[in-house]
Amino acid sequence: MEVNNDTMQKSKFGRICVFCGSSQGKKGSYQDAAVDLGNELVSRNIDLVYGGGSIGLMGIVSQVVHDGGRHVIGVIPKTLMPRELTGETVGEVRAVADMHQRKAEMARHSDAFIALPGGYGTLEELLEVITWAQLGIHDKPEYSPCHESVASKLCWEIERIGYSSED
Ligand code: AMP
Repeated sequence: MEVNNDTMQKSKFGRICVFCGSSQGKKGSYQDAAVDLGNELVSRNIDLVYGGGSIGLMGIVSQVVHDGGRHVIGVIPKTLMPRELTGETVGEVRAVADMHQRKAEMARHSDAFIALPGGYGTLEELLEVITWAQLGIHDKPEYSPCHESVASKLCWEIERIGYSSED
């Protein structure tokens, strides 16, 4: 997908970590949300950090961001590669030793976190970064937008924490 530089907006976030399902989910709106969020990141010039899989919503959002010309970092444990990586990889794939290192690496490379619909894995990842914030381990914002309006929610949240397209 071609992105017109004139329509690009600046964001205070250089890279956002997206947690989302390794399956596409039962509703088409989940996939729409993944596409919307991917396009929103591209339009705001934001790179993606994610779990590195090519399946499910992870595959959709990473493909959209990559196709839009933004950098994609996927962080995936070696043991999960056969299960979550099928076909061609997108962007930069960083192989890590285990789940703990995966979450630490994803957090280290990101300025904020967004969760799309997902299963237990997504929930676990989101809760971990929320509890890390509670403990003062980081002060990066976490968003879990309503899947029906991910893009508008993201806009709203970014406005709320002080971002303006005039910045
Ligand atoms: P799910 O939401 O269950 O489809 O999983 C989404 C992603 O979360 C997948 O890439 C899983 O490998 C990953 N995941 C599951 N459990 C964990 C965990 N404890 N720590 C880090 N990632 C996880």
